[in-house]
Amino acid sequence: MSTELILSTDPQKNKELLQKLQQPTNDGLTGTQLFDAQISGGLTYNDFLILPGYIDFPASIVNLETQITKRFKIKTPLLSSPMDTVTESEMAVHMALNGGLGVIHHNCPVADQAEMVRKVKKFENGFISDPVCLGPNNTVLDLLQIKEKFGYSGIPITENGKLGSKLLGLVTSRDIDFLQSAADASRKLKDIMVTELVTAKKGISLAEANKILSSSRKGIFVVIPGKLPIVDENGNLTALLSRSDLIKARDYPLASKTKSSKQLLCAAAISTHEEDKIRLAALVDAGLDIVVLDSSQGNSLFQVNMIKYIKETYPQIDVIAGNVVTEEQARSLILAGADAIKVGMGSGSICITQEVMACGRPQGTAVFRVAQYARQFGVPVIADGGISNVGHIIKAVALGASAVMMGSLLAGTTESPGDYFYHEGQRLKRYRGMGSLEAMDTGDAAGKRYFSEDGRVKVAQGVSGSVVDKGTVKKFMGYLITGVQHGFQDIGVKDIPALQDGVAEGKVKFEKRTPSAQAEGGVHGLYNYEKRLFK
Ligand code: 5GP
Repeated sequence: MSTELILSTDPQKNKELLQKLQQPTNDGLTGTQLFDAQISGGLTYNDFLILPGYIDFPASIVNLETQITKRFKIKTPLLSSPMDTVTESEMAVHMALNGGLGVIHHNCPVADQAEMVRKVKKFENGFISDPVCLGPNNTVLDLLQIKEKFGYSGIPITENGKLGSKLLGLVTSRDIDFLQSAADASRKLKDIMVTELVTAKKGISLAEANKILSSSRKGIFVVIPGKLPIVDENGNLTALLSRSDLIKARDYPLASKTKSSKQLLCAAAISTHEEDKIRLAALVDAGLDIVVLDSSQGNSLFQVNMIKYIKETYPQIDVIAGNVVTEEQARSLILAGADAIKVGMGSGSICITQEVMACGRPQGTAVFRVAQYARQFGVPVIADGGISNVGHIIKAVALGASAVMMGSLLAGTTESPGDYFYHEGQRLKRYRGMGSLEAMDTGDAAGKRYFSEDGRVKVAQGVSGSVVDKGTVKKFMGYLITGVQHGFQDIGVKDIPALQDGVAEGKVKFEKRTPSAQAEGGVHGLYNYEKRLFK
């Protein structure tokens, strides 16, 4: 039984009002209206908000799967920047495990970058692919020092003291517990190590390995409690399995993997300089899937030529080209064959490009314009720089980006390179622009991105600083993903295509924010407060 809604006692008026209520409203601005340059000028993420829609689903079902290049899809729209204080192999592994993608920096020798790519491609959840090893002639003191530094208690002993060499034995803390005297410290590990070990062959599954670790003996061989060395057909050590890691090893349902091999997806950056063709060859040899051309102004003859070279030489590799901020720049790179376009010039937190070069564009406008243009050709766009909170991620995606690239937001996590230090009671890590003088002075590549001609004055385009400890990426990514899902729920869309189609069709609307609206949208009017973002 339905009761009719009464909005007026006048039946005619009531009918009119009910008819009006059946019509959609026209509140807010469409994307095109918001980014009308005549009215708005250039906008950044903070200059606008997305208007909320209708919620009829739980946030947990929001699907963030996204196309990041013509060929590759990942489960979350989150990438880490190729910066030497953000992405090396550890960050790349954890970004991929949690559904994103880490782009390994190139401010290092070719061999080092290739090794980082190899580590990501070789990573197997639960296996330690680069265990600390010692040689037979190392001493108890060496072992104690490692124990003190890393807390490890089981160290494999190999012929040359490195991974990849013949496994000779294993020493655990049990073997040295009763060696306390100064004379003991100089005893050689070959005299202490256990040699009758149970090992497993490379390629063993986690389940099989776990079964072995749960037993204690196999014939005369001893299973060292909690440690299982993995060896190749020649008895060379290739990995170590640790029971405590195995217990910790969660399933990563979002992990970014290649379809064919089930290995983690790996991306790395190179410059557009001729000599980086050698770097790229080494990276491809190490298993690279996606190459990012790292250039602050991507619309150049060098980049166009490099894209063409890569597409011809390595058709299996996808190229993310950039950076650009205009449709014309994007046109040039799409025409050259780019598989995705990276957008951002001067929007990064550590960046002084706009100040020094007078070039760039506010990031909101840049993403909207380039994404709208690239969308017609099926080329994904990545919004790079200026992401300082969850809301910025949602806004970048609403403006058409398939994913965001983050530097400062991920710097300061456990998985970012560098050690923590304390300053005025805060636990910090260093974070620096790749165009900062410090980065240009220390590395191989940073100078190539930001100033090109040798022997001339170095003009910095970035600064060097520090960021606060953010804990582990595993938890932090969880926070970002859940936060984005809640934002999508408020907008009333269940996935990225629905959001972007909604904006393109003018169904998802925006509002511009005046400076006082921005102040209102932040915490205000409190004497003091503590900002804790997640638990
Ligand atoms: P963030 O996420 O910290 O706001 O920005 C990170 C992005 O800034 C990087 O992905 C990269 O595109 C850009 N970037 C990194 N270092 C520099 C630099 O020294 N100068 C400029 N202009 N941009 C940088």
